[in-house]
Amino acid sequence: MNGRRLAVALACALVAMASLPWDAEAATRRGPRKRSNMPPGWTWPPSRAMRTVGRRCTDELTAMGVVWKRAPRQRKVARPIYVPKMELGGVKLTSIFRKGPFVMDCHLALSLARAGEVLRQIGVRELRFSTIHEYRRIRVRGAKRRPLSRHALGLAVDVFEIVTDTGEKVVVEKDYKKKDPTLLALERGIASSLDFRTPLTPGNDRRSHRDHFHLEARVNYEQEQPLRTAMLCTGRCSDRPAPRQVSARR
Ligand SMILES: [Zn+2]
Repeated sequence: MNGRRLAVALACALVAMASLPWDAEAATRRGPRKRSNMPPGWTWPPSRAMRTVGRRCTDELTAMGVVWKRAPRQRKVARPIYVPKMELGGVKLTSIFRKGPFVMDCHLALSLARAGEVLRQIGVRELRFSTIHEYRRIRVRGAKRRPLSRHALGLAVDVFEIVTDTGEKVVVEKDYKKKDPTLLALERGIASSLDFRTPLTPGNDRRSHRDHFHLEARVNYEQEQPLRTAMLCTGRCSDRPAPRQVSARR
């Protein structure tokens, strides 16, 4: 009897093992497709966690004294707002050729507001931009599955020129290659900020960014997860991984 049970158990184990490579391969095949270029925890329509993170963002803007207005709903912008004054952290945002108002996600406004002090110390008084929100995909030559640009999410701004505290206008296309110190300091300042992802500049992407800095707010919509997991795991917390429970919480 025991021998038969052992044989059955072994057979089951073999079947399970045999299915592993296929599953793993399928998961690998699915992986790159499913793993998008979106911020961690990003879903559409926005999940409850995303809405909570968005509200927290606007609360923080208000606490910092930034006057903002809700913007009409935009596709793929989680927390669309206007900043009527177009000044964040004491740094002006000026469009080079478009008329406002400019929709942005709250997190771009918050990241710029937080960076304002450092930018002013560097000597930046104004960021002159072409685009903030625009529904488009990233530029990758030949890629069929091009992910959405952070501009589509309202999280990025393309800065072509800056104005310094001495009133000098510095142009990325012309002055970056001359190693303009304010531009280089801006690049370093944004790169070292946790509120931004690595900026794209002529220094690291000459092909697509030879004439502008792409500044992109970093946002993580999974911020609430550790807390929620802890709450779910009090008492009868199982030590086995439970992927189904994780997906059910979304
Ligand atoms: Zn850009």
